[in-house]
Amino acid sequence: MTYDVIVIGGGPSGLMAAISAAEHGAKTMLLEKGSKLGKKLAISGGGRCNVTNRLPQEEVIKHIPGNGKFLYSAFSIFNNYDIIDFFENMGVALKEEDHGRMFPVSNSAKSVVDALIHKLSELHVTVKMNTKVEAVHYDDSMHTVILSDGKKIDTKAIVIAAGGKAVPHTGSTGDGYAWAKKAGHTITELYPTEVALTSKESFIQNKSLQGLSLREVDLSVLNKRGKSIITHRMDMIFTHFGVSGPAVLRCSQFVVKELMKGQRKVPMILDALPEMKETQLLQDILNMMDESPKKAFKNVVKGIVPERLLTYILTQNEVNEEQKCANVSKETVRSIVQMIKNFTFDVHGSLPLEKAFVTGGGISIKEIVPNTMQSKLMHGLYFCGEILDIHGYTGGYNITSALVTGRLAGMNAATGI
Ligand SMILES: Cc1cc2nc3c(=O)[nH]c(=O)nc-3n(C[C@H](O)[C@H](O)[C@H](O)COP(=O)(O)OP(=O)(O)OC[C@H]3O[C@@H](n4cnc5c(N)ncnc54)[C@H](O)[C@@H]3O)c2cc1C
Repeated sequence: MTYDVIVIGGGPSGLMAAISAAEHGAKTMLLEKGSKLGKKLAISGGGRCNVTNRLPQEEVIKHIPGNGKFLYSAFSIFNNYDIIDFFENMGVALKEEDHGRMFPVSNSAKSVVDALIHKLSELHVTVKMNTKVEAVHYDDSMHTVILSDGKKIDTKAIVIAAGGKAVPHTGSTGDGYAWAKKAGHTITELYPTEVALTSKESFIQNKSLQGLSLREVDLSVLNKRGKSIITHRMDMIFTHFGVSGPAVLRCSQFVVKELMKGQRKVPMILDALPEMKETQLLQDILNMMDESPKKAFKNVVKGIVPERLLTYILTQNEVNEEQKCANVSKETVRSIVQMIKNFTFDVHGSLPLEKAFVTGGGISIKEIVPNTMQSKLMHGLYFCGEILDIHGYTGGYNITSALVTGRLAGMNAATGI
């Protein structure tokens, strides 16, 4: 049996590609090596399936720091608002949460995946589960997909949607890179993004701050000249190995890239009170001290930042629990304020790619036609999703990229044959 389009991989990009190819009249087959479709999609957004993001297109692209600009032409054909319509037209009502994140009203990832599966069956897409693609053979007119049991299937066009290498138990084990290479494609260096960071700092090693979570802080990454590369205002947490949480995940790719340049450590600065200017904070504390010289300093500044952070900062400045305001020098107060506003620490690495949310690097976008997702090097070959050298922040941006590129790849694989 010969197919018009074979899509390899049943993640969001492959599901969308198969639907789009079939909608454009192609006899389509979807191959998935696992026993479930959309496994990673289902665990996104804390297991409630963060299908896309409602921010304006320009903002969505800004939140895809890994080659998001490549998506401009794709977005002019199918964008995040089209994704919302796509799901709503299938009967999946969506709701907006913080930072524009879109979730199913049902809060159930299953409702999203089930709707996609239903659509595949409505469009008569042949879906083969537990079917691992071993290799791909490219030929002048037709291509052949070779399965792990030795079976061969001919097709006019192939869409490779096999994902990256993050969280491999979901099925994304990086199989697709070899097939891209075989067609002559360049794979840029792979690295973890949206990943927790490790630190050898003594306060991490001796676990003084382990478990402390901070809300809406400014976290910055510095380059080796001490210049801030990026700042994110979000929550973060100190862990037994380093730092994690949304602000850290967003900063992580910038840290990883600095480490890839050969740096052994990367400085980060935490501003625990970003809404307040340093001079104002200093003045406020000095005023409070003047008003209550006999009160314990700790009690006077209590509540400015979370207690454990405050205790740590006071200890570092050799201010003990009972020390009265009158006995704390202005210099010490200045140093305490400096630490609240500029808590500087080094990070030395990240958790491995397998533990990252998203893969950085992938098939070079220079070799892909931006408005069709077609390979510039091989006829009848298309790519979509995380296998491409495109990566965004969590918050629906990667899924948006997967669905948009999947839409284009499927559509053009169907019509370009
Ligand atoms: C815990 C977690 C939370 C996340 N949360 C978010 C979030 O909130 N927002 C966001 O934007 N992104 C999030 N992401 C990232 C997002 O889920 C991925 O970027 C997205 O799923 C990528 O889609 P994809 O279709 O390219 O690949 P995948 O979803 O990885 O799908 C690839 C599929 O290909 C199949 N496959 C691989 N090799 C073969 C083969 N040889 N033969 C057959 N099939 C094969 C795999 O089994 C898999 O089903 C999260 C990721 C994780 C791990």
